[in-house]
Amino acid sequence: MSAAPTPAGPLGPHLHLHLEPEERKRRELGLTRRDFGSRDRFFAAHRTDRADRSRIQPGDLRRFLADVHGEQRAQGADYVELRLSPRRFLLDGMTWQEFTDTAQRVLGPLHDPVVTAVLLVNRNSPEAFIGEVTDRLGSLPRVFVGLDIAGDELAHPDVRPFVPLARAAADAGLGCTVHAGEFGPAEHVWRAVDLLGARRIGHGLSSATSPALLRRMARDAILTEVSLTSNLALGAVAAPGEHPLPALLAAGVPVAFNADVPLHSGRTLPEELALAAALLGTGPAHIHALQSRARAHRFPPRRPPG
Ligand SMILES: [Zn+2]
Repeated sequence: MSAAPTPAGPLGPHLHLHLEPEERKRRELGLTRRDFGSRDRFFAAHRTDRADRSRIQPGDLRRFLADVHGEQRAQGADYVELRLSPRRFLLDGMTWQEFTDTAQRVLGPLHDPVVTAVLLVNRNSPEAFIGEVTDRLGSLPRVFVGLDIAGDELAHPDVRPFVPLARAAADAGLGCTVHAGEFGPAEHVWRAVDLLGARRIGHGLSSATSPALLRRMARDAILTEVSLTSNLALGAVAAPGEHPLPALLAAGVPVAFNADVPLHSGRTLPEELALAAALLGTGPAHIHALQSRARAHRFPPRRPPG
């Protein structure tokens, strides 16, 4: 049993969760947890050209994937979509095939909870890399159910280079989510929806500044993946009372609660749900109902090829 607060029933899906391989490696090596505290430091720490970057071996990836499953089971998540960025593993010497096969081999057989993978492509990726990934999407193993465009949206606001990638993802039967409106304006969320066909938005805080966008998200049932602790830890919102969650709900936008980067934030999914209840001044039953409804926004399993 987990030491986390006991949920009043199944916790529902956990749709926005990163592997955080470097933090896992640092933890294993007994290094201290890095304290980011701001957007700039967070994105700087995720640059793959840092000299002090911890290298990750194929065995590490296998172990980390299994660890996530154990953690999510202990927390009570009943379905998990895990974001996996291939770039650092490729830089550390894995081939694309080894990376995707490892994800399939480790995650594919798991249940209670099922863990699927969302391929994360960073906004700062070079054009050649985006093209390479675009060509490979059609042959991804079935454990991959979605594509995420993530990273520093202020430094890389233009998503046009990702349009062919998003189209290839749709053709391959992958769902699309985009980190947008976390630090940037509502315009970034519009672009994710209109240009990339995103069906879910990571964070989407600035959506609440645009009534027209809120109406669009409610009408088309575009889910906002909410991560309260992450937003506070990185300074995307200054205080819990300033989080736009109430506005999203009032507009009828579907939401899901998520730990996002739990190794950084130190928060579990049950703790995120408790935080949401406190923020909204509501009880756990309401929060669990919202989280259960988010199940309809899971990226569906892909059709077998051919
Ligand atoms: Zn995220």
